[in-house]
Amino acid sequence: MVQSIQVPNPAAIQAKLEALRDARSKGLSRKYCLRLWSEFIRERDGHRCVDCHSRSRLSAHHICRKSFVEGAQFDTGNGITLCDACHREVHIGFNGRPDLKQPADSQGGEKLPLMERLYSILTDDGVERGLLSEQFYFLSDQLLGSLKKMQGYRPDTYFPGSRVEQAYLILAECEFGVRRALAEANGAPMTDKPLLPGGLYLVLNDDRGRPLESIVLQTYVPRSK
Ligand SMILES: [Zn+2]
Ligand SMILES: [Zn+2]
Repeated sequence: MVQSIQVPNPAAIQAKLEALRDARSKGLSRKYCLRLWSEFIRERDGHRCVDCHSRSRLSAHHICRKSFVEGAQFDTGNGITLCDACHREVHIGFNGRPDLKQPADSQGGEKLPLMERLYSILTDDGVERGLLSEQFYFLSDQLLGSLKKMQGYRPDTYFPGSRVEQAYLILAECEFGVRRALAEANGAPMTDKPLLPGGLYLVLNDDRGRPLESIVLQTYVPRSK
């Protein structure tokens, strides 16, 4: 009987990861290391598209473009296996045919909702298949810090969950400057706490002349650790 490749094989995944680490520690070429990174991603994802589960014409896609943060190109949590159709979809620009050799955003600006969605489905896939671990889904502090900065948050602002789940949550946030502007326009004080999905931003009214107070109520339950 042939074993289904849908059953995760942690030993095979670990072996691909070791090969990548070994090549990187020896300073082998970027091209070669990217090939090993891609092999690791496809092995981890069970040789199927994480989005539509197709098994044809697969490649490992960088969720956050390689040029955004140096080093993120080899982060294991920054890769997702996609079939040709889904891969074209994420690279497509506002005009013209998608050029898969170019970064996902090169033909039409940053695609934050797309990145958010990919980190989200990657988190769920890792949880469902019992593979979610720091080493198989790693994102550097540098990458997470850059995403926070992009959204207007300090690099040490706390977001719950594993690193890929944090990336999803950071991108799901309302950009901090927009939130502050909205609050100021309404004369309400701001907190710098992230407003996670399902959370509430409460402004407490005070009729005794004291300044308004605001609190953030978070009900979000992390999907991963
Ligand atoms: Zn697909
Ligand atoms: Zn790609």
